[in-house]
Amino acid sequence: MEALRAAERTCSSPGVLQAGRPLTCPGREPLPPATALPADHTYGEPSDRPTASVVAAGTRMEVECGMSVGRRQILAAVAGGVLSGCSAPPRTGAVRSPSAQPGTGTAPSGTGGATAAPASRAPGRVAPTRAEVVARYGRATPSSWGFDAPGVLGRLPSAERVIALTFDACGGPGGDGYDEALVGFLREHAVPATLFLNSRWIDANQAAFGQLAADPLFEIGNHGTRHVPLSVSGRSAYGIPGTRDAGEVFDEIAGNREKLTGLLGRPPRFFRPGTAYCDDIAARIVTDLGERLVGFTVNGDAGATFTAGQVEHEVAAVPPGSIVIGHMNHPGHGTSAGIAAAVPQLLASGHRFVRLSDVVR
Ligand SMILES: [Zn+2]
Repeated sequence: MEALRAAERTCSSPGVLQAGRPLTCPGREPLPPATALPADHTYGEPSDRPTASVVAAGTRMEVECGMSVGRRQILAAVAGGVLSGCSAPPRTGAVRSPSAQPGTGTAPSGTGGATAAPASRAPGRVAPTRAEVVARYGRATPSSWGFDAPGVLGRLPSAERVIALTFDACGGPGGDGYDEALVGFLREHAVPATLFLNSRWIDANQAAFGQLAADPLFEIGNHGTRHVPLSVSGRSAYGIPGTRDAGEVFDEIAGNREKLTGLLGRPPRFFRPGTAYCDDIAARIVTDLGERLVGFTVNGDAGATFTAGQVEHEVAAVPPGSIVIGHMNHPGHGTSAGIAAAVPQLLASGHRFVRLSDVVR
């Protein structure tokens, strides 16, 4: 474990989005400077425009490793109504410029500094209850806010020529789509990937979820219950109000965690909050609940707004050990075609693709 953490620290560094590019975060559309957001804007109201011109690009993502539960069990769970609705995301909120932005370096598409990784919960240990989390962190004051909270995994802890493709499905109005072309390509070429699914997306795509969860090519991560920033003090990101206290942080993590555990027969290993924003106290709560924060190395599709050519350009050039973030909830955008163009180039240059759990122990 120590070796792993050391490797993560060595490999990870904070970064920023590239100058001249739309301000984006992995869970959102890019944010144009002064024009109305597109009709299918997924992540907030038109007022969701930060005033910052540069944002540290580091996130976390969570993945769940190999499916030990059979397709029959998963489909039965779906048919049995295990999937339940979850609350709609906040749709309004004052625009705030993220302050105390961690990681304002100049790496073009890098992110995710794995800073001092908190100790993971020991296997088999019972996760704390909501009341215990509130008692433990209810009076704590966060000291960081952004994408690179302590413990975030920003690169793969491997020296091999491996790449982890990860795709978010954020759910909610405008975000419940399913990019079947992308998934079909991955299947056709046996390219493994990690899928971060929000609770609302699962509810809206029950049949697709069952198929994805039953496919050992993919692993499922926790992308939150309401898809909101993870804050113990009500911080906002992109105009979306985050969780207001430690109890709501627990709810955001545990709601979808419970859903996924029921559907998959095992809890997810990894967590990425909606908008990817998180403070250091919330990060500790994620760890206490037994999940791992994971960032990304390369923003592959800028919230599914890149053209296919842009996606290809970004993804085909990623260095070994990269965690690539894209989106699987915007069919018809550039992600699918861009990935399809980039993957053969990466394979030809000697890379292989992995799920996070294949290299993160
Ligand atoms: Zn998202």
